[in-house]
Amino acid sequence: MKFFFDYGRPELAELFDPPFRATQIYKSVYQRWFDDFELMTDLPKPFRVSLAGEWDIKLPPVHRRFDSSDGTRRYLIKLADGELAETVFIPEEHRNTICISSQIGCALACTFCLTGQLGLTRHLTPGEMVTQVLVAQRDNLTSSPAETRDCFNIVLMGMGEPLHNYDNVMKALQILHDEHGLNMSMSRITLSTAGLLPAIERLANEPSIPNLAISLTGATNEKRNELMPINRRFSIEQLLDAVRRFPLKHRQRVTFEYVLLRGVTDSPQDALNLVKLLKGIRAKVNLIPLNEAEELDYERPSVAAVERFQQILIDHHISAFVRKNRGNDISAACGQLKKKWADEPQNVV
Ligand code: SAH
Repeated sequence: MKFFFDYGRPELAELFDPPFRATQIYKSVYQRWFDDFELMTDLPKPFRVSLAGEWDIKLPPVHRRFDSSDGTRRYLIKLADGELAETVFIPEEHRNTICISSQIGCALACTFCLTGQLGLTRHLTPGEMVTQVLVAQRDNLTSSPAETRDCFNIVLMGMGEPLHNYDNVMKALQILHDEHGLNMSMSRITLSTAGLLPAIERLANEPSIPNLAISLTGATNEKRNELMPINRRFSIEQLLDAVRRFPLKHRQRVTFEYVLLRGVTDSPQDALNLVKLLKGIRAKVNLIPLNEAEELDYERPSVAAVERFQQILIDHHISAFVRKNRGNDISAACGQLKKKWADEPQNVV
C-alpha cells in the first residue's frame, strides 16, 4: 500500500487518468476529512475500489495523548514501523499552534536538549509530518474543516532538525500549502533550525519559503561551540551572514530563539553580545528559560535574571519576548520531547 500523505498533488496527477482525479481526491482527504474511498461518490465506483486496494488514506493512530492543565496536548503518534512521532497542540487565545517533529531523535546533540541525547533514529517521511498536523487538527478543531483552515500555525520545533531532513520537509510543506489541500499559507509556518548552513541557503532560493527561526543560545563562538556542536562546523558569523541574505517580505522578521541557562547564557554581558550580533538584522528574539530535566546539567535562571536579560535587549531596540512554558506538566515544553516517556502512564487520556 502507498501512504497517500507522502504524495504531492502534481505527482498524483501523473499517476491518475484523467489527472484531475488527483485534485478531487486531495479535496476529499484534506478538506472534507474523508478516510474511506467509498465516501468519494464523485469518483466512479470501480475506480474507488481499485484505489482502496492501492492507497492508504487512514491517519496513523494516536498511541498516547497527554493533556496538560493549561490545555496543551502532547501526542505520540504510532508510525507504520512502530516508531513514535511526538506532536504538540498549543491552544492560544487568537490562534492555535501545532508543533511537529521532523525526525525520530536528532543528530545534532545540543547539550541542553533532551532529543539531542537520543541521537538520530531516522528521518520522517513527508506524510508522517503532514499527518501529525492532521491528527492534531482533527482532535482539537471540531468545527467544519473549511472554518478550521485559518485557525492554526505550524511550527517545526518538535523532535529533530528539519533542515537535516531537507527534501522530506520541503515536500511536506508543499503538501500542506497546496491550494486544493490544507491551503496553509507559508506565513503561518515556521521552520526552526540549529543553523545547518548550506540548507539555509538552499531554503532562501525556494519558490515558497516559510518563516525562519534560528536557535542561537550562545552569543559567542566559544559558548555556542560548547552548547551546540553544529557551531564547530558553521560559525556564528557564517550563520548570521546567511541570515542577512535570507529573503524577507515586507515587515517579516527572522526569529532568534535563545535558551537562557543559569550562569551560562543569562548574564548582562551575554545580552550585550547578542545585541551586537543582531545589529542590522530584522530580528525578533524569543527568550526561552531552560525547561529543566534530570538528565540535563543546566538550571533555569531566576525570573529576575530573565527580566534583566530581556530589558537589555529592549533598551537596545530589539523586540524580545519571554516564551511561556506551555505543557510543562506533560513534558511537552520546548526541548523536552524524548521518547523514553512513551510508556509512562502520566495524565493519560
Ligand atoms: N532542531 C531545531 C528544532 C527543534 S528544537 C532547532 O534547533 O531549532 C526547538 C527549540 O527548542 C530550539 O530553539 C531549542 O533551542 C529549544 N530547546 C531545546 N532544548 C530546550 C530546553 N531544554 N529548554 C528550553 N528550550 C529548549
